Order: sequence, then C-alpha cells, then structure tokens
Amino acid sequence: MSSPLHDNAVLDAPPIPFDNSYVRLPPQFFAEQAPTPVAAPRLIKFNTVLARDLGLDADVLERDGAAIFSGNKLLPGSEPIAMAYAGHQFGGFVPQLGDGRAILLGEVTDHSGRRRDIQLKGAGPTPFSRRGDGRAALGPVLREYIVSEAMYALGIPTTRALAAVTTGERVYREEVLPGAVFTRVAASHIRVGTFQYFAARGDTDSLRILADHVVDRHYPEIKDRQNRYLALMEAVAERQAALIARWLHVGFIHGVMNTDNMTISGETIDYGPCAFMDSYNPATVFSSIDRHGRYAYANQPAIGQWNIARLGETLLSLIDPSLDAAVDLANGVIKTYGERFQAHWLAGMRGKIGLATEEDDDLDLIQALLALMQQQEADFTLTFRRLSTLAESDDSEAPFTASFKDPDSAAPWLVRWRERLNREPQLPSERARAMRGVNPAFIPRNHRVEQAIEAAVEDDDFSLFEVLLTVLAKPYEDQPAFAPYAEPPQPAERVLQTFCGT
Ligand code: AMP
Ligand code: MG
Repeated sequence: MSSPLHDNAVLDAPPIPFDNSYVRLPPQFFAEQAPTPVAAPRLIKFNTVLARDLGLDADVLERDGAAIFSGNKLLPGSEPIAMAYAGHQFGGFVPQLGDGRAILLGEVTDHSGRRRDIQLKGAGPTPFSRRGDGRAALGPVLREYIVSEAMYALGIPTTRALAAVTTGERVYREEVLPGAVFTRVAASHIRVGTFQYFAARGDTDSLRILADHVVDRHYPEIKDRQNRYLALMEAVAERQAALIARWLHVGFIHGVMNTDNMTISGETIDYGPCAFMDSYNPATVFSSIDRHGRYAYANQPAIGQWNIARLGETLLSLIDPSLDAAVDLANGVIKTYGERFQAHWLAGMRGKIGLATEEDDDLDLIQALLALMQQQEADFTLTFRRLSTLAESDDSEAPFTASFKDPDSAAPWLVRWRERLNREPQLPSERARAMRGVNPAFIPRNHRVEQAIEAAVEDDDFSLFEVLLTVLAKPYEDQPAFAPYAEPPQPAERVLQTFCGT
C-alpha cells in the first residue's frame, strides 16, 4: 500500500534539483537578477535525453516548458543571477561586460557527479546590459541549438542545448525578428574574461577566490600541486589546445574567440557567427564583423595562445610574489601551449588519414594533402570521409577525387599515401572503421543551417530544424536516407557570411 507521505515526497521533488555554488561566492561576482517575463512563450524544442542525464524531471519540464524555459516561471531552488566578467573583444579590452542578456538559473549535479550550469539566454535586461534589450532572436537561438548539439555528437567538448522557446515578442535588430530564449547547459560559464574582470580592478582577493572555486570545480586533481595557480593556467592551456585542435579536425570556425567567449572548463561556448568550412581554405572567415580575419580558421590556435597569455596575466600575482619570477613561469606555460596544440593536432590528423603509427614524414604527408585540397578547392569533410572508404578497398577513386577541381591532381598523393599505409600494422577494414569514427559524414553545413532558420523564422516551420537535429546526432554513420545532407552546397546555395545576431 502506498503511503501518502511517500506520494507527497514524490510530488514535492523539485523538477530541477538545484544545488548552487556560484551564488555563494562574494557579491561582487554577480548581480541578482530574475528573468523578465515574455508575452506568449511556446516551447519549440526540449532535449529530453539531456534532461534525464542531468537528473531532471523531464516530464514536468516538458509539460511546463514554455513557462519554465522562457523565464516566466521560476522553479523552487533557482537563485537567478547575471555573472560579472570583462573581456578582450577583437583585441581591445573592455573592463566590464557581464551577462547582459543571459541569466544563470542555478546549478545541478548530473548522474556522473558533474556540476552543470543551467542558463537562460535572451531572458531580459540585467545590470550588465549595455544598450541591448537583453533579448535574443530566434535565428541565433536555433543556430546555437543545432551547432552545439552537433559538436556534442562529434565528441567535441561543448555547452549543450536543453530547450528553445519562442517568446511571442519581437526583437529589433537591423530588422524586426521573432524573439526566443535559449536554455544552455555548461560545465560552468566562467571565462578567461571572468578572471580579467577582477584583475582589471586589482582585486587579488577575489581572483584567489575565483581561482580556488575553479580548481575545485574543474581541476580538483591540481588542488595540492605546489604552485596551484600556475598549474591552473597550465591545465586551461592544455584543455584549450586540445579543444582548438578538435575544431580544426572538423573544419569548425568559432568566429568570435574573444576572451569573454573562452571557457575555463575547455568547452566550446557562444555559437554566434560560427560555421563549418565547406571547401578547404585556411583563411576562411564567415563572421560579418571579423573584417581582418582575426578569427579565421587557421588563426584559431594562435588566438587560443593569445587568450591563454591574457589568462596568465591575471594570475601573475597569485603565481609568485616576484613579478619577474611569475612572468617567467607564465611564459613557460604559454610556450608549452604551442607544443600541446601541435601534438593534439598532429595526432588527430594522423587518425584522419588512417595512421596508427608515427613516422617523421607524416606531417609532410598531411600538409601535402591539405595544400592539394586548398589548391583544388576540395570539400574538407567529404575528402576525409571518402578517404576512409579508399582505405579498405581498391575500388574506383572517383568518389574521392570528385571533389577536387581536377580529379587527376590527387593521384600522386594517393600513391604516396598507399606506400605509407604499407608500413601500417592495421588490417584495412580496421583502419577504415577507425577513420570513419573520426571523419564525419555529416556536419552542420552552413547552407542547411540557414535553410532551417529561414523556414522557422519566415514560415514558423521547424521541420528542417528537426531533420538537422536527427541527422547530426549520428555524424559518423552513413545514414543513406539523409545522403543530401552530406553534400556541400551548390554554388547558388553557398552562404559566405554569418552574423552575430546580437
Ligand atoms: P555575446 O556576443 O553574446 O558574447 O555578448 C557580448 C556582450 O554583449 C555580453 O556582455 C552580452 O551580455 C552583451 N549583449 C549581447 N547581446 C545583448 C542584448 N541583446 N542585450 C544586452 N546585452 C547584450
Ligand atoms: Mg559571449
């Protein structure tokens, strides 16, 4: 027989079991700020699987999702705040940015014991809003939903998408657009810019509190290291070097690698004008505001290093009481970033061309392929996916060479590659399987993302958005039913520019 007490306990279990830590930090770390309600919220997408992984009550959240994920209804345990941070934007320092349109609802601990932030983006103005309305438009919300979930499925560290809601309100940008709110899940929203916020104020006490919080939360393994703050800088450098290498392996261009958009956790964050490259060109830039190509595809590793240097600057007083000594130590880490990146990048590229062993000439072999791809305007994703097929069969090379302007141009490289494979221990079938596991068939092609956004914004039609989410959830499987989504754009479909949407 069921006890009424037990039933009540079940009914009373909060749908999001908040367990907040950031709001326990000193008041200068944030501003308390509730979301501003919206007129007519409608839940357009809810990530049930993620909700369950986080230990949330997916049924309640889905039923009441419009109110909850718009910010109209605050759940028990939520302590909403806007976080303070600063940042270098396109190289220029802004001492105060902060969440101007994002509100952290609180934190939860997921099934594997990992703490995660739950944040609304587009939830209304905060004390940090600068001129903006605190809102988000539907297009950028859908872009972030699609691309962040695609990155997750690709196996790349990233923030996640829990929900998207339309607000029934309009937002005013260059044009009038439907408003939306995005619910983001992150290991934390602490950025390089969070450290810069306190460093810019000469507030060493807050810096130490922040650094200790970050070590507890993201790097507990370094807690007892002799120089904990140097170890922290080193740990962030390692995660960012690994992350940016992964971006390059799939042709991802973040677009706004400002220090306020670089996480301390090593997750990809802030999918503004981001996009994936179609034909290979290291100078590729999509963002309309990146006029000088600061954040071009091939510049991303160097920008990562620049941002790590900015993080190091904020930590100097904690690293060593002697400035000279601290600078030497921090410079040592900045130097290792380059080596770390190169090692991650090369290991991943070896995998992409099917090498399980290491030879000195491998770098040259990889660079020769990339140079050829650039010259021949070959599609980045298709080239590696189709190379995976060639790795196990002597069938026609035509599908592989088809994306090269002159299909014959690839022949000498293929001869060289096959010679190299002769010295590999793997069976061809094993090699092909391994290659298919790192060379995706499906990426969020820019023209497909734009088509999905356009249908939703113009016609309230979310079917393409749904199709993209389905296809991109299994990027390493062939999925013949969705073959057209693996194809690069036709010339008329090409999207050359993306916009921040802020
Ligand atoms: P983002 O481009 O989203 O990374 O934002 C950069 C900075 O501009 C952050 O401080 C944001 O909070 C702020 N911001 C961006 N869009 C808006 C908006 N619509 N209203 C208020 N602040 C905004
Ligand atoms: Mg940002």
